[in-house]
Amino acid sequence: MSFSKLNIIEPILKALRTEGYEKPTPIQEQAIPIILNKKDLLGCAQTGTGKTAAFAIPTLQLLAAEKNPDPRAPRKVKALVLTPTRELAIQIHESFTAYGKHTGLRHVVIFGGVSQSGQVEQLRRGTDIVIATPGRLMDLFNQRLISFQDISLLILDEADRMLDMGFIMDVRRIVAKLPTQRQTLFFSATMPPEIMKLANTILQNPEKVEVTPPSTTVEKIEQSVFFVEKVDKQALLRHLLRNSEAETALVFTRTKHGADRVAKFLNQSRITAEAIHGNKSQNARQRALNNFKAKQTRVLVATDIAARGIDVDDLTLVINFELPNIPETYVHRIGRTGRAGASGVALSFCDIEEKDYLRDINRLIVKPIPVNEEHPYAVKQAPVVERVWVQNRRRR
Ligand code: AMP
Repeated sequence: MSFSKLNIIEPILKALRTEGYEKPTPIQEQAIPIILNKKDLLGCAQTGTGKTAAFAIPTLQLLAAEKNPDPRAPRKVKALVLTPTRELAIQIHESFTAYGKHTGLRHVVIFGGVSQSGQVEQLRRGTDIVIATPGRLMDLFNQRLISFQDISLLILDEADRMLDMGFIMDVRRIVAKLPTQRQTLFFSATMPPEIMKLANTILQNPEKVEVTPPSTTVEKIEQSVFFVEKVDKQALLRHLLRNSEAETALVFTRTKHGADRVAKFLNQSRITAEAIHGNKSQNARQRALNNFKAKQTRVLVATDIAARGIDVDDLTLVINFELPNIPETYVHRIGRTGRAGASGVALSFCDIEEKDYLRDINRLIVKPIPVNEEHPYAVKQAPVVERVWVQNRRRR
């Protein structure tokens, strides 16, 4: 199955090619035709399944098909994406930017915790799509800085997290202000009774789509965390790679410079490595990826953005040189290994400044990542992290 078989328009296909997406993921394959058919959708899917593109691509396509009678007329908000956190809102906005770059559609991201003036200014200039967290959106609505009257498409993302984070009342208030004649897409990783109740009140004859959550994959992956001082991370990486039988390994860093530094260090240590990140041209990235797939390069060092779309079938080792600050990213990263029933190993380095990230990851995946203390650079931080984690569990 290809994206063109899903009747995606050329401007979006072109953007998907740039992203390196070759074929739709299962949720995309199922959800895109339903959405393009203007039906309501109830999707049971987690982050990591490609669900953002599953709703962003058809949303862009539906709006691109609506001819604006006068291109100079002010833009009206026609689609609204509600999502629980600022990080998710930013990620979704980045996805709309990537997939929609040849459509001429405009989108704005709105979240709390920052001054509203920049967001208000962007709304004033006009936009087709708004991606928002509920609290700030309601705030702007109450100040009459945004109108909902032309919204024909509502997307509710991560509904179960909205519930956990106490946003359900805000969501209900927003939905109550929207036109009743609209298409609604509802995504949630889990469907507890309260979420089903909410879905039933806001969806009309929805089609249901369910994909296997990546957590089933995660459970198959052998994970461990290494407490290590920041300055010892490179040496620990070299030690692990020298003692590993893995033919290839994907190493994640948080920054582009970090990726370059790690690749340089490995090459100096006679371990072939290449870095891929957003500062490199598409050609250079593709070349590095091809070398890696052909096993000419043993280690690919990547940032999260650059790693999007990387699909290597028999990857057995993923190393998190730095932990991601968004816990879902951890699941994405380690999900690159252990594909299609193969075995997978995911090793994560954690320095003292990353303990909070580890705590968030452990909460997300429920079962804490086992600590490996048998390495030459071990520091004794484990008990502290464990305590933090246990306290958090109690608080929940
Ligand atoms: P999501 O579940 O939306 O958070 O997406 C998970 C990751 O998969 C993101 O890094 C996307 O860029 C990537 N992705 C989404 N769709 C595809 C696709 N069809 N092919 C390759 N990568 C994809």
